[in-house]
Amino acid sequence: MAIVILGAGQAGLQIATSVRQKGYTGKVVLIGDEPHPPYQRPPLSKAFLKGTTDAASLIFRPAEALAAQGIDLILGQKARRIDRIAKTVEINDGTVSYEKLALALGARPRQLAVPGADLEGVYSLRGLADGQKLMSALTSANNVVIVGGGFIGLEVAATAVAAGKVVTVLEAGPRVMARAVAPQISTWFDKMHRDMGTRIVTSAVIAWIDGTDHVKTVTLGDGEVIAADLVLVGIGAVPNTEIAAEAGLECPNGVLVDAVGRTADSDIFAAGDCAFHPNRFAGSYVRLESVQNAIDQSKTVAAAMLDETASYDAVPWFWSDQGQAKLQTTGLPFAAERHVVRGDPEAGKFTVFHLKSGRVIAADSVNSPSDHMCARRMVAGGIPLIPEALADPATDLKTLAMQRTA
Ligand code: NAP
Repeated sequence: MAIVILGAGQAGLQIATSVRQKGYTGKVVLIGDEPHPPYQRPPLSKAFLKGTTDAASLIFRPAEALAAQGIDLILGQKARRIDRIAKTVEINDGTVSYEKLALALGARPRQLAVPGADLEGVYSLRGLADGQKLMSALTSANNVVIVGGGFIGLEVAATAVAAGKVVTVLEAGPRVMARAVAPQISTWFDKMHRDMGTRIVTSAVIAWIDGTDHVKTVTLGDGEVIAADLVLVGIGAVPNTEIAAEAGLECPNGVLVDAVGRTADSDIFAAGDCAFHPNRFAGSYVRLESVQNAIDQSKTVAAAMLDETASYDAVPWFWSDQGQAKLQTTGLPFAAERHVVRGDPEAGKFTVFHLKSGRVIAADSVNSPSDHMCARRMVAGGIPLIPEALADPATDLKTLAMQRTA
């Protein structure tokens, strides 16, 4: 039997290594469309862009090490079609047969739909090739305009302004990172970036991007014209589902899977950024774009491919490094009714708890890793807590988290 995995990113690699760790001895084929062995993406908008990490050190494991584990790596090959009857995948150079197939197809940057968005000098950031282009463009750029005040936008803004660039962030929403964090966190990061020298425009509407052979300006809906010799678009990602949809699998917002990561075809699974899965922390189906989700969901999928039946139930979390600040979030904040702040925003060390029905459903921490570990435990436990106790610096958070989840 062969396990074939489409997508050689964090999720694909995890599925391949997990099935091996679980003692599977059959063929494992990992297919990726980029030329590189699986590599870490998070540093692309951080250390890699700063020049403190190089491309070679992003690689998880060289191809030879994967070969030694019995993982056949096929690189630079796009999966073109899945034949569910013949149980084959058509790639550029032929056909691969599977008995079980995992889709770890990831996501791609959402495109900005305004005139001029295809000009030279307009970038997005997802893969290593994007990172290399952006890094080299940043070296000679002066005026950097970033469309989107989300994670990519703000991480890159911090690096660019520290490198002496004139940086403007154009965010469509009323505050930065609005979907992901509490208002208090947005406010704090907004100020931090402004203090670093970045200009942030919220509720921004991009009318068009101008230039002849290269970007020169960005024009806003209110008529303001902003000089730009580099534009980075970071306005979210869309899942790569086309090949799954063409094979007749349901893809409402990502590939639809059940609690173990299985699609309606019992031999096809999906994990990571492309998987639309039931999640108790969301209270519904959700698609998550994070390293944590890629790793944990892939472990579940690997188990399910080998006929184990553990459901995916990991607490969501992720992090973002912006300037000197480390943001950690846990849980999913969609349905929060109130927020409780613990710590001191002025001192740059605090946590915001998102509460619903007296329970912590999510938490965002700035430079507070130990409080954050307690928060993660509280989210996982889903037990009632008294908001005043959470906020009170005299309360030992560890004791609270341990007692309540005991
Ligand atoms: P993101 O975090 O979802 O942020 C996109 C931001 O752009 C949102 O604030 C969004 O506002 C705004 N936006 C959307 N359309 C816009 C428009 N037309 N003009 C101006 N602003 C617009 O997405 P991202 O920063 O592009 O990152 C993409 C993915 O990369 C993430 O989902 C994540 O998987 C990954 N990533 C993660 C990290 C991390 O975890 N530290 C770091 C970098 C990248 P609305 O919310 O109002 O739409």
